[in-house]
Amino acid sequence: MKESENLRIPLIAGNWKMFKTAAEARETAAQLIQLVDDVKNVEIMIAPPFTSLSVVAEIIQNSRIGLGAQNLHWAKEGAFTGEISASMLVSAGCEYVIIGHSERRQYFGETDETVHQKLHAAIQAGLIPILCVGETGTQRDEKKTFSVLDKQMENGLEKLTFDAYHLLVVAYEPVWAIGTGKTASPDQVQEVHLYLRRHIEKQFGEALAKATRILYGGSVKPNNITELMALPDVDGALVGGASLQPDVFSKIIHF
Ligand code: PEP
Repeated sequence: MKESENLRIPLIAGNWKMFKTAAEARETAAQLIQLVDDVKNVEIMIAPPFTSLSVVAEIIQNSRIGLGAQNLHWAKEGAFTGEISASMLVSAGCEYVIIGHSERRQYFGETDETVHQKLHAAIQAGLIPILCVGETGTQRDEKKTFSVLDKQMENGLEKLTFDAYHLLVVAYEPVWAIGTGKTASPDQVQEVHLYLRRHIEKQFGEALAKATRILYGGSVKPNNITELMALPDVDGALVGGASLQPDVFSKIIHF
């Protein structure tokens, strides 16, 4: 049994990215509710596109599934065409928000500085932030994995405060494993997760390090989730492609 088991309830989170119309999202969520009705001691979250948040919020209320968003803007409101604020997410029914996903860093100019501002806004609004960090394949080959992670963690989390009501979730998502079918090996995952937990301990102290859930993300599938979840410092998964089909995602949730 994991020494930390009682402290950290596993979280299995689905990132639907830019997939599904509102009607499709509603149908997927409805099917998932039925499939995970028997699951105990696992927190489940789905993050549909913004346009489906309200419709999914309605269908998952009174279910075991929580709602998350894939991004937010740090300002409370303002002339920021195309952006969505933390309070808008809360009013749409969100409890979680994914911040700093590598696709946003890669394609939409997300930086550690904007990640930091978004984390601050999410915490202020009472959302649970899921901070994504991870190295590219080249950075791993050049043995820069840990320095990249240090920078993402230090700059992203600088001067933020967390407590029992403002817990942090970190997702380790090696960029080279996202949507590629390549999963990091169990040894690689455990090595990085332990490193991240020690980093949190140095930055915030032992209590937060023990309470912080560190998810793995990168081509998680029903056939690799059991092995990943058995690792001592893996507290859940952030799942992209395999979260789009309710039967497949349900198998992952039943790890
Ligand atoms: C993700 O988008 O966070 C992700 C991990 O994607 P995939 O599971 O498809 O690799």
